[in-house]
Amino acid sequence: MSAPALVDTHAHLGDPAFDADREDAIARAAEAGVTRFVEIADNPDEWSRAVALARAHPGRALCALGLHPYYADRFDDGFVGRLRAALDAAPEAAAIGEIGLDYAKAAVPRDVQRRAFEALLDAAAGWDVPVVVHCRDAYADLLPILRARFPGPPAGRRYRGVVHCFSGTPDEAVACAELGFALGADGPVTYKKNDALREAFRRAGPGATVLETDCPYLPPQSARGKRNEPRAIAEIAAKLAEVWGLPVEEAAARTSRNAADLYRWA
Ligand SMILES: [Zn+2]
Ligand SMILES: [Zn+2]
Repeated sequence: MSAPALVDTHAHLGDPAFDADREDAIARAAEAGVTRFVEIADNPDEWSRAVALARAHPGRALCALGLHPYYADRFDDGFVGRLRAALDAAPEAAAIGEIGLDYAKAAVPRDVQRRAFEALLDAAAGWDVPVVVHCRDAYADLLPILRARFPGPPAGRRYRGVVHCFSGTPDEAVACAELGFALGADGPVTYKKNDALREAFRRAGPGATVLETDCPYLPPQSARGKRNEPRAIAEIAAKLAEVWGLPVEEAAARTSRNAADLYRWA
């Protein structure tokens, strides 16, 4: 029996944590049914490396080019133009991200984060490019920012972007989904004590969920304390199948279709 292909919609395989075995990790993922991945670049220093990694895996990888809130103070007048040029030069670059708000760990002041985030959201909307949103302890600010711009999904598409590594409440999950955002489910959804997060994904449902590892961070329950890698998607799919009361094949197939729609991946 061949299980449906799984997608890791958010990986940081360019991280030095993979320097010793990057291609092995990609091969191990494929053996576990995770045949596609999206490499996420957090700042302009990583853009070309992310493009090169995606280009080295044609048909199996895409990338997103962004400015993580950790680096939001690098946003300047020329940033949007440089981002446009980088997207134009790389058909593999399918999204803008990650971008967003991090009120938990980022050293950059909140108003600086918000200015960069809003300018990049506006650019993405103008260009009709999906966005990968990072949000930590900032949902109270995120939702009004999204709501002011996006009444729902763009015409003819299911998603405007993804709120990656979703960590909000069940109500916030439903609100993001209504605005046309998919929710990224990561290792924490498998943690024993995370009933509230599982409830958020139960409420948002399989139509609004994509799977991601955020590797090398956020290992699932079976690998806690270890480096995470894309093969962990299979464990996240199994847990969500349980949450939704679906056969794991169906949870895999639906979330993979969502990933393809989100990243406009044939
Ligand atoms: Zn993130
Ligand atoms: Zn990330």
